Amino acid sequence: MLYPDQFGKDPLFPKHSEFAVVFKDELAGRGVIAYRAFKKGEVLAKMAGHVVNEIRQHTLQLSPETHLFDPYFSGYFLHSCSPNISLNMADLTVTALEDIPANSFLYMDYAETEDVLFKQFPCSCGATSCRGWITGRKEMLNAELIHPELLNINQGLR
Ligand SMILES: [Zn+2]
Repeated sequence: MLYPDQFGKDPLFPKHSEFAVVFKDELAGRGVIAYRAFKKGEVLAKMAGHVVNEIRQHTLQLSPETHLFDPYFSGYFLHSCSPNISLNMADLTVTALEDIPANSFLYMDYAETEDVLFKQFPCSCGATSCRGWITGRKEMLNAELIHPELLNINQGLR
């Protein structure tokens, strides 16, 4: 299990034999890799963590006032505008949106769960539907945060 014993022994918790938090690259940092294949619609795992009242790096929104701080697993899901997993923050399950081959990184869309992001950022996921600049679902693009250099980098990647 990736989760410490304090969270209990749910059989759906991610196992070391199936998942790991690994370094991907300088741009993305760490991500979660799935060692085995999953079918579209399959539940990959159940999430756990500490419920906190503020947005932090590695939190996922549970409600407008509460956030799940999971530094063991789900807090490291990478973002893609064309994600391969979907998160249900009501029952804390992670479901495959498409067939996922073994040894794939898991990508969610941060706007699926977050009203506001800890930090907006330029995206280079490569999807044709890439939004370019990633915000929470309820926040406006924060122009003050867009550094001209980042915009140029972003346009270069599209
Ligand atoms: Zn993108």
